[in-house]
Amino acid sequence: MPLQEHNYWLTTAELPTPDAARPLPEVVDVAVVGSGFTGLSAARTLSKHGAKVAVLESETIGWGASSRNGGMVLTGMKLSVRKLMSMYGRERTRKMYAASLASIDCVEQIVREESIDCDFSRCGHLEVACKQKHFDDYERQSEIIEVEFNHKLRVVPRSDLAGEIGSSIYFGGMVDEVSAGCNPARYAAGLARSAMKAGAEIFEHARVETITRESRQGEPGWKITTSRGPLWAHEVFIGTSGYTSATTPALQKKLIPIGSFIITTEILPAPLARELSPRNRMIYDSKNYLYYYRLTPDGRMLFGGRAAFFPENDQTIRRSADILRRGMISVYPQLRDARIEYVWGGTLDFAFDIMPHAGQIDGMYYAVGYAGHGVAMATYQGQKIAEMMATERSGANRPENPFVGIPFPGAPFGLYNGQPWFLPFAGAWYKFLDWVN
Ligand SMILES: Cc1cc2nc3c(=O)[nH]c(=O)nc-3n(C[C@H](O)[C@H](O)[C@H](O)COP(=O)(O)OP(=O)(O)OC[C@H]3O[C@@H](n4cnc5c(N)ncnc54)[C@H](O)[C@@H]3O)c2cc1C
Repeated sequence: MPLQEHNYWLTTAELPTPDAARPLPEVVDVAVVGSGFTGLSAARTLSKHGAKVAVLESETIGWGASSRNGGMVLTGMKLSVRKLMSMYGRERTRKMYAASLASIDCVEQIVREESIDCDFSRCGHLEVACKQKHFDDYERQSEIIEVEFNHKLRVVPRSDLAGEIGSSIYFGGMVDEVSAGCNPARYAAGLARSAMKAGAEIFEHARVETITRESRQGEPGWKITTSRGPLWAHEVFIGTSGYTSATTPALQKKLIPIGSFIITTEILPAPLARELSPRNRMIYDSKNYLYYYRLTPDGRMLFGGRAAFFPENDQTIRRSADILRRGMISVYPQLRDARIEYVWGGTLDFAFDIMPHAGQIDGMYYAVGYAGHGVAMATYQGQKIAEMMATERSGANRPENPFVGIPFPGAPFGLYNGQPWFLPFAGAWYKFLDWVN
């Protein structure tokens, strides 16, 4: 098959297609903006709490990063635990780490409860060290994680690495058996169906254009205009991640949209697939400008990375196919002759402190900033913020969420209006850091 500039996962999934002619409701309890894992998970939970919910999606269900990612359901956060402890102290970091573990359980529980057929499997993840000093740090990191968070990682020396990966370029690895893998497009489809089953209505091709405070019959709330007409909502929940726009300017200024790209090979012979990844792990390397890769359930190698820092467009996608193929062969020379069948890209969101953030901004609820660790955390934050909203309506105690209330920094000196002019410099800076560190 010739190379397709198309998301492979979408060829395996059937996303629900809500009736395009159905008019928007006039009034809802909550308008959820975005139908990725964050928005869908929030809509599911809010509906289960009895709220009337409209999910407004400018494209189609799961169109954003949620259907385009590597399907790695990962423990931990982008920042190292030492960095987290220095930023937030021991107690909050413990809660954050516990939340990252709970987020995997959260996905698993939804998949089970809703019988979502998305190849969810606790196959574990493997981080591989690109330098000896990265490997030396694994011992220290795993020790801190065991002592502080009571969570066990396994450090794999170079001499034993063949049992984990069919590549000889790494200096060792670190395994977390708790992480999982899934087919993200099928998961998004199942999550959308479960939100609809709970009572949420999803409106595709309904781009939210403006959100303004407006009372209705003496009740405070929001007037929302969309490309499919207006509606009024008591509350608004924003789950737009890397696709956040000037519709929510305060949030847009705090997020950097970064492109990430993926290729998949043709279906590989089973013995070759086993040789590349004997335990079928979710794998990523220790660089800033990292590669992440895994086998798909039908036995392709899926290989991703920040081949370009800019979000996806025809040019960056086409260029990425070559760059990633070269990267893949540098890891796995065995794949020199494997045909590349799909290439696609997506946009993820980084906050300036590379942390997830959730809570309220300008009176609207939101959860963003997953920095490439969003499959589990977006599902979890969608659910947690929805629970927080439900308790605020009922007057019950707020559920604990260690990501609510932490400082949410903007760009240094306010040098950012939502247009990431500095991405080429950031890309070069990360490459430089990988070279010297
Ligand atoms: C290529 C790639 C690989 C990744 N790999 C992994 C991985 O393996 N593991 C992992 O944990 N994470 C990964 N991530 C990150 C993960 O996919 C995201 O963090 C997660 O999907 C974010 O979900 P979300 O619902 O917050 O946002 P999204 O899924 O991006 O959804 C946001 C939605 O909001 C909609 N929207 C935006 N503005 C408006 C508006 N004004 N009106 C209406 N709708 C609007 C968009 O159309 C979009 O559908 C990856 C991301 C990418 C791009």
